[in-house]
Amino acid sequence: MTLGLLLKSGKEKLKKAQIAEWELDAWFLLEYVTGCTRHAYLLHPEQEVTELQEQRYEELIQKRSFHIPLQYLTGSQEFMGLSFFVNEHVLIPRQDTEILVEEALRYLQDGMKVLDMCTGSGCILLSVLKLQGGLCGTGVDLSEEALGIARKNMENLGITAEFLQSDLFDRVRERYDCILSNPPYICTEELDTLMEEVRFYEPRMALDGHADGLYYYRRLVEQSPDYLTPKGMLFLEIGYQQAEAVCGMMEKDYKDIHVVKDLAGLDRVVYGSLRE
Ligand code: GLN
Repeated sequence: MTLGLLLKSGKEKLKKAQIAEWELDAWFLLEYVTGCTRHAYLLHPEQEVTELQEQRYEELIQKRSFHIPLQYLTGSQEFMGLSFFVNEHVLIPRQDTEILVEEALRYLQDGMKVLDMCTGSGCILLSVLKLQGGLCGTGVDLSEEALGIARKNMENLGITAEFLQSDLFDRVRERYDCILSNPPYICTEELDTLMEEVRFYEPRMALDGHADGLYYYRRLVEQSPDYLTPKGMLFLEIGYQQAEAVCGMMEKDYKDIHVVKDLAGLDRVVYGSLRE
């Protein structure tokens, strides 16, 4: 079996299974299994693969055709230019979330303490710590499995952070200069309309924001003042229709509230600083 023929059969199977990015995904899996670069492939598509590689590739193509996300098959997703390990216990980091990290980085300074609530893979906390030295970071999640992944990512990136298993602030005991969060914010009813990759394979607890999608914002906005230092900042990722509701919640305890749009021009981040 050659690289070229194997790729062709992978593409055909994914197309048949109606995988949106069938061509790209078939290629990424081939690259993952054989280690072959695009350049090497284009020069020598007739290169033979081993039987083991062929078998492994076919298994992965089959899994992908069941709509298991590519990132869970290869175990990685890039975020803020860094590579994060992921599996089915954590949400796959989204490009939109980079807006939250970028906004926080404009504000964060040496020596500040940062808390990332619902840390999942740890992508928000760890990229902030990696890109801005001199911070002290804590990641909180309800899921022990997720915290295991976040710790693994911390080690891979060669940085130090603290992780805490807690239902939101229940076990948080300190105050922070900055709280970041991308909480679950999809309305329960809407979950069943999402693409199969998300709906069947990403952790429901990382997505489900209860009936109106705003459940975690209510709890976070209400409780966060007790966990912030004076003038501390709260940064929240939001769904594109949630800015008004979340800003409204924040008005009581926060000032200088801003809404930031993502690259598609949709509201994506809300932040503000604690009133004195
Ligand atoms: N903080 C993680 C992320 O943004 C996980 C978010 C979540 O599980 N809701 O990818």
